[in-house]
Amino acid sequence: MAAIYNRVALIGLGLIASSMAHAMRAEGLAAEIVGYARSAETRATVRELGFCDRVTDTAAEAVAGADLVVLAVPVGAMGALAEEIAPHLAPGAMVTDVGSVKQAVIAAVVPHIPAGVHFIAGHPLAGTEHSGPRSGFATLFRNRWWLLTPAEDADPVALARLRALCEGMGANVDVMDAPHHDLVLAVTSHTPHLIAYTMVGVADDLRRVTDSEVIRYSAAGFRDFTRIAASDPTMWRDVFLTNKEATLDILGRFTEELFALQRAIRLGDGDHLHKYFTRTRAIRRGII
Ligand code: NAD
Repeated sequence: MAAIYNRVALIGLGLIASSMAHAMRAEGLAAEIVGYARSAETRATVRELGFCDRVTDTAAEAVAGADLVVLAVPVGAMGALAEEIAPHLAPGAMVTDVGSVKQAVIAAVVPHIPAGVHFIAGHPLAGTEHSGPRSGFATLFRNRWWLLTPAEDADPVALARLRALCEGMGANVDVMDAPHHDLVLAVTSHTPHLIAYTMVGVADDLRRVTDSEVIRYSAAGFRDFTRIAASDPTMWRDVFLTNKEATLDILGRFTEELFALQRAIRLGDGDHLHKYFTRTRAIRRGII
């Protein structure tokens, strides 16, 4: 495929950015990939791994002359990063992000974007429980959604180019508004992560009673269900701090359902449990 961008600057070189670098390389989507990460150790690792053409020691150097800048740091770090790079952005450049929450990122980043530079927020619905520059791989985005949440007045040509990049990496692109994104993700990703973290905490409490048996005999259900609780704590702290309203709303609904099931168990109401599990099994089977 012909290069879509001439110089892509990746800021933050963890799972998502390293996967983008691998995918862009594999598909020839960028003529040059420049990377920057805050820690000298990460920069040294990326130089050794070689998935960027250049790794710079400052964010300013990385974005200089770039026609695409990708902010791939935890959500809470996006605003300060945008402020830092703003004076160094090239006229006409596109800035995007990959953060898991959209309204808070837009509110933090947009005030720093200079006139003549585009900003379109985005979120690839792809990830693993691993983090850091060694965890990336070229096929991470293949057949996964990449949601873009452009402002109403976003430049359609710039949007089409960003969409082409995401599609070039194998993703299916959908465009929606940021509040809708945050509500949908609170249901499908954010609250499930919170519940998984909680379940591991409960098991650990119990471990004090049953020694190491909870971990040793943890059944497939526990392992599948709690896999995502191995995810990066900084990233997830920021998700809950910045998608507060939507996650509290979904958590309230979840708690109501859980109490209803708790009551059914206490009352021995098998009918209620059976009906509930039949309905939710059908829904789950509809999800590929
Ligand atoms: P990661 O922990 O693998 O990498 C984050 C990188 O950012 C690290 O290299 C870290 O050192 C660097 N960093 C942190 N603060 C920084 C700062 N202030 N300036 C410069 N670099 C900084 O994380 P990741 O999984 O690649 O996540 C990056 C973004 O992508 C997050 O906003 C996250 O919400 C989003 N995201 C993650 C997933 C997932 O499943 N992991 C999926 C979709 C989107």
